[in-house]
Amino acid sequence: MARILILGGTAEARQLAARLAPRRDLAVRLSLAGRTAKPAAQPVPVRIGGFGGAHGLARHLVTERIDALIDATHPYAATMAANAANAARAAGVPLIALRRPPWTALAGDRWIEVRDAQAAVAALGGTSRRVFLALGRKELAPFEAAPQHHYLIRSVDPVEPPLAVPSATYVTGRGPFTEIGDHALLREHRIEIVVAKNSGGGATYSKIAAARSLGLTVVLLARPPLPAVPAVTTIEEVEAWIDHAAPCAERDV
Ligand code: NAP
Repeated sequence: MARILILGGTAEARQLAARLAPRRDLAVRLSLAGRTAKPAAQPVPVRIGGFGGAHGLARHLVTERIDALIDATHPYAATMAANAANAARAAGVPLIALRRPPWTALAGDRWIEVRDAQAAVAALGGTSRRVFLALGRKELAPFEAAPQHHYLIRSVDPVEPPLAVPSATYVTGRGPFTEIGDHALLREHRIEIVVAKNSGGGATYSKIAAARSLGLTVVLLARPPLPAVPAVTTIEEVEAWIDHAAPCAERDV
């Protein structure tokens, strides 16, 4: 039985785990960082928490006798992706990345693509605006430098401590979201501009579609550079890699 470790925290990781779970020739485990208070239920056994850098992950791969590592983390989880690449190399464990293609602009999209959250703050300008921040907690701090705006912030768990700005509204929610729901949210809060990551995939695309239909500008944070490792875009390709390409050890367990 081949031992598979999936680095997750995404819908795709959960879908991949669900696809592999029934297979009797695979022992699949999913790893979560432990960022959310109540993680979504998973179809395979889960371990939670950091490994302690690339060295810690390499040690884990060896002690847990992992045969194949799948990096199915979010495209903005660049530290984990780099750790996975380094750890897999050090431990001699085959690695594949499951990566979502980025969204591409359609007719009617008004996108401003920026390097990072600091550049997004600059793109908002000096005049007070009503801004939907569809970002994770760790990207929010730079917006404290622009307290003239009103912010609408959506996160899975409450943002604690709240942003040090005079005017912010918080909503909690876990994707997938709908275009109808996001359209209503943007209108209800009279949003003038959206700041988001180019996450790709379907679960959070609704805000992009809603912004398009309302004629709103979207400030999109560029994707971080990711390590050059073998990568695919579908769970079917990952399964094919496990079956045909990953040189999983044939262990008698
Ligand atoms: P990150 O900056 O790349 O990683 C920071 C540290 O968190 C890593 O060095 C690792 O700690 C730990 N970590 C990350 N993913 C892990 C996993 N799947 N299992 C165990 N430890 C993990 O990651 P991040 O951007 O904070 O994202 C954290 C998690 O949330 C990821 O699993 C990602 O898939 C998910 N997520 C991220 C975003 C996003 O926008 N960044 C959006 C949706 C979901 P050690 O060094 O101690 O091993």
